[in-house]
Amino acid sequence: MIVYRLTLRTRSPLVLASRQAAQGGATRSRDYIPGSVLRGALAGALLRAGHSSDSAWFQTLFSQELVRYGCLYPTEEEAVTATWPLPPTAWSCKIQSGFLPQQGTLPSPEDAHGVLDTLVSQLAHTWLKHERCQHDGCGSLREPLGGYYAQREDGSYLQPTHSRRLITRTAISGRWGSARHGSLHTVEAIEDGQAFVGFVHVADSAAQDARRALQQVRDTGALRLGLGLSRGLGQVDISSIDEEEGHLGLAQPLSERWRVPDLSQHISGLSAERFAFSITLYSDAILLDDFGRYQVALNEEAWRRILRYAGQPPAGLANWPQSIRYHWGATAAHPVYNWRFAPGWGKRSSEELAVTRGSVFVCTALRQEEAAVLALLERLEATGIGRRRAEGFGQIVVGHPWHREEVLR
Ligand SMILES: [Zn+2]
Repeated sequence: MIVYRLTLRTRSPLVLASRQAAQGGATRSRDYIPGSVLRGALAGALLRAGHSSDSAWFQTLFSQELVRYGCLYPTEEEAVTATWPLPPTAWSCKIQSGFLPQQGTLPSPEDAHGVLDTLVSQLAHTWLKHERCQHDGCGSLREPLGGYYAQREDGSYLQPTHSRRLITRTAISGRWGSARHGSLHTVEAIEDGQAFVGFVHVADSAAQDARRALQQVRDTGALRLGLGLSRGLGQVDISSIDEEEGHLGLAQPLSERWRVPDLSQHISGLSAERFAFSITLYSDAILLDDFGRYQVALNEEAWRRILRYAGQPPAGLANWPQSIRYHWGATAAHPVYNWRFAPGWGKRSSEELAVTRGSVFVCTALRQEEAAVLALLERLEATGIGRRRAEGFGQIVVGHPWHREEVLR
């Protein structure tokens, strides 16, 4: 598996909304690029450059699930490697929310009061000590922060965001491509010059093809995303393509991070024969049970199906572990729609239920199956979990370093 880190930058305003939503009132743009939109935009750029969709190359890139196009999240110049969705365990002051200012900057009354991860104390039922902001003279309640975070070179944190503007215009009839009568509406657009970062996972056999495609689209500058393409909106440049060593840009391999900290110590009543580990969703995940029902947690029904689709265990391992059990979760779910690149005309796409990115799950397993659990989690980090993985759904991180310490960041 080869992983490319992709950075994109908008060259004209970008509207990331569904066509249906953009036909009345003021429409907000979403703040990230879904993997399906990236995939469609790359395919569109290659088709416009004269490639045939029947070619073996095109099939390798877009129809055999050899390439998984991840979501692209907002990033800023000073951020290194990746942008992460903030998990619901990340709490911040209600009054002055956000990360602590960078060291060396002059203190100001506007400074945010910091962000604290509460996974360990929620597991241990000691979270009450974090309920209120500890900043001098504040004492306000804390709440989950939401949004994204990234780290700077010096280890401090930031919340990457985009500048936006409102654009007012007449709606285009999806069917005829002409202005619809009496349909003035306002859409929110992400400004030009704003950046996104994310990952593309490629099977070894498709690595050369994928690199050539990405480079070609970068060199031709023909990437187009979102709505209003005929009016010059949505022009996007690929600003960098980097091969990544670690999973989603993490420095430590799974074997060194998956048991740090030892969550088992914080679960009262856990049998000495079992150990615990955490799984954090990097992207939304669509989880089903064996009867096709949507699941909103990594419960036994979801695990049964994940194991069934995990493929053959690696050499030296007879069976996948059977003792994994759900223990705890901080999660949310929301409906997602199919985002296709084909210029449709307003037919509503199918709706599915996704577990929201950033959700955290703690599971336990028998110590005697430790090696098998590690092998399974290694496989799942590489392949993802659940449905529509080629569109970036279901990417996970086991033992995310974010949950390591309960310090104010
Ligand atoms: Zn405060």
